[in-house]
Amino acid sequence: MHVIVLGAGVVGVTTAYYLARDGHHVTLVDRNQGVALEASYANGGQLSYSYVAPLADPGVWPKLLPWLLSPSSPVRFRPQLDPRQWRWCLQFLAACRGTRSAETTRHLLRLGHASRHLMHELLAQEPTLDCAYTNSGKLVVYRHAAALNGARRQVEFQHGLVADSDYRQEVLDSATCLKIEPALAGLHGQIVGGVHTPSEDTADCYRFSVGLLARIRAAAAENQCLFDTSIERLRVSRGEITGVETSAGLLEADAYVLASGCDSARLARPLGLSLPIYPLKGYSLTAPISDPHAAPTLSVTDFQHKIVYARLDGQLRVAGIADIGGYDLSIAPRRLATLLAEARNAFPGAARYEQSQGWAGLRPATPSGRPILGHSPYRKLWLNVGHGALGFTLSLASGRALADLIGGEAPFVELDGFTLPGAESSARSR
Ligand SMILES: Cc1cc2nc3c(=O)[nH]c(=O)nc-3n(C[C@H](O)[C@H](O)[C@H](O)COP(=O)(O)OP(=O)(O)OC[C@H]3O[C@@H](n4cnc5c(N)ncnc54)[C@H](O)[C@@H]3O)c2cc1C
Repeated sequence: MHVIVLGAGVVGVTTAYYLARDGHHVTLVDRNQGVALEASYANGGQLSYSYVAPLADPGVWPKLLPWLLSPSSPVRFRPQLDPRQWRWCLQFLAACRGTRSAETTRHLLRLGHASRHLMHELLAQEPTLDCAYTNSGKLVVYRHAAALNGARRQVEFQHGLVADSDYRQEVLDSATCLKIEPALAGLHGQIVGGVHTPSEDTADCYRFSVGLLARIRAAAAENQCLFDTSIERLRVSRGEITGVETSAGLLEADAYVLASGCDSARLARPLGLSLPIYPLKGYSLTAPISDPHAAPTLSVTDFQHKIVYARLDGQLRVAGIADIGGYDLSIAPRRLATLLAEARNAFPGAARYEQSQGWAGLRPATPSGRPILGHSPYRKLWLNVGHGALGFTLSLASGRALADLIGGEAPFVELDGFTLPGAESSARSR
């Protein structure tokens, strides 16, 4: 079968990789000059299989005012004259119910741990894949007792939901946090404790995607990458996608996978398909490590400031911030300065911060935090969109499941909770 994958971020590349491995002929289309040059470029690098609780939870309500008013808050709302932003925000608030958030966590844990299994399988099959992978383990640190108590409840809730023998989470006091991650000395006196999960991994998402691209190309001579090619419109006739109009002309295939990140909603709209995806803008900085003992070995998340730290070979990656304010990709110096100040406070002397590379990316977020996967209401069109803050982590299970479906198999992981209600039957009946 010939499959066109629309978008070469980590989600599109992973899907194309599994399709190519299954013997399909794939064409990857992207407007950039290579893979993973948008949201997948310099993300936090955390393969966060177990920390999947969505942003939309009941804890949001007391934080709403600071989000609206404080220019330095980790989440910020910048109102736009765009009804899609307001609709997304209302859907987000509706998703902030305890039962809804717990249900999302349950579904995402299933997908996250399926990804963990696939990541390890992939690394065993592709031992030369060079992506700064480490089984770093993750330590999430808390600055207030109430937040640490909330984390303890979350650990208890998740206990028993994951059928993975390596999965273990431990709540630690601050002294033990500093013992297992001595580089946290800079936060001595500022943290009250943490949660440690040894089974979490880190890797460089860009290098991972570049590595998979080489394997897609090597899998078959007819696999193609159309870069510098803008996707303009999907053609539809009698309930079936018949082609995709691009700046390189009309492309036709047996199946099409929409994996266009934040642009997926715009591309789906003319089909009458409303995908609730809106950009959550985030920032990162990457600085060369100058003192390996002062840089964290574990991947660390500062829960209150929502900042993540990962060591990617000789670089320290610092990422965070979620600005709900449109599609603009410019780097706001004040937001980047916040990240830099936090990194200097947490890990002083760890890196040559003055040489930091700043970056901003748009997380393709759904209000609930769940990606949308599987059938669309149109024959031949498949969806792999809306991975929000967890796209690197979830790309493996999502890509594998899509390849299964397109190949006519049952997906290797249950997609309940991620599919568009009624899409499969409506594709059949059109
Ligand atoms: C600051 C930050 C930190 C993050 N940290 C983590 C983390 O630690 N762990 C984690 O798992 N996730 C993390 N994420 C989330 C993760 O990066 C995203 O979920 C993921 O990159 C989304 O991948 P994607 O392929 O769906 O989108 P993208 O990477 O944006 O890919 C979409 C592709 O489609 C192409 N495209 C779109 N429209 C068109 C068009 N019309 N024509 C042609 N091409 C088009 C784009 O060029 C792009 O290459 C983070 C994100 C940010 C911003």
